[in-house]
Amino acid sequence: MLIDTHCHLMEPHFKADLASVIERSALAGVLKLVNIGCHLEASRDSDRMCREVRDGGLPQIFGSQGIHPHDSNQTTDEVMAEFLRVIRENSRIVVVGETGLDYFYMKQPKEVQVASLRKHMQLAQEVNLPVSIHCRDAAESFEAREDMLRMLSEFPRVRCVMHCFSQDRAYAEEVLAMSAGHILSFSGTVTYLSADEVRQVAVMVPSDRVVVETDCPYLTPQVFRGKRNEPAFVVETAKVMAALRGESFEKFSEISSANAERFFGI
Ligand SMILES: [Zn+2]
Ligand SMILES: [Zn+2]
Repeated sequence: MLIDTHCHLMEPHFKADLASVIERSALAGVLKLVNIGCHLEASRDSDRMCREVRDGGLPQIFGSQGIHPHDSNQTTDEVMAEFLRVIRENSRIVVVGETGLDYFYMKQPKEVQVASLRKHMQLAQEVNLPVSIHCRDAAESFEAREDMLRMLSEFPRVRCVMHCFSQDRAYAEEVLAMSAGHILSFSGTVTYLSADEVRQVAVMVPSDRVVVETDCPYLTPQVFRGKRNEPAFVVETAKVMAALRGESFEKFSEISSANAERFFGI
């Protein structure tokens, strides 16, 4: 069994064939999906989708409430109050986010992104849920990760998953040392031969701190590159992770799924 810890099923890419996407996920043994909201509408969709009872029930779908750094100007007190209400009403919402800092695209000013991230951390602390963190720096710069480390130290009790981990070993070690609750999530990028730094982190990350995701419809693993990504393809990422770490696919699937279940309480 595998768990896709970060997918975006409400994206328009899935509109035409979502039912078959979900069916292929179950057939591939990807039996739990964490469907991540990334703006207000997507968070409402995430809430709605995990309330829907489907025949057969597999894969199980869980949700999140959050605003991506690209849309961080949406993060008002009213929106956060709505998230709080939804989280209290719906026990299948298992994580806050995705939130974070993206200084690569810089679609919102840094101060706006930082303020939005802080509101998400406060919410997570209040409801005792973990946070799905997006962190991307501009080329040759470490500013986003430095601001991120400062924010993590402001909230020592909040557990974070560094989604689509794409930094180097030094940053990985710093994050992991900061709290025993933080984990790293690897996406299709680890299957790209050019992703040298990420592959090094995949090898060193302790067995109890690692999970996998698709971030679909984006970041399709190497073997299917050019196609739309979907939850079933997390199998390919898990295969590469297992090979890099010198573990069997079965062993890696077992440990990463146990980590995801523990982290999200699913
Ligand atoms: Zn992201
Ligand atoms: Zn995402």
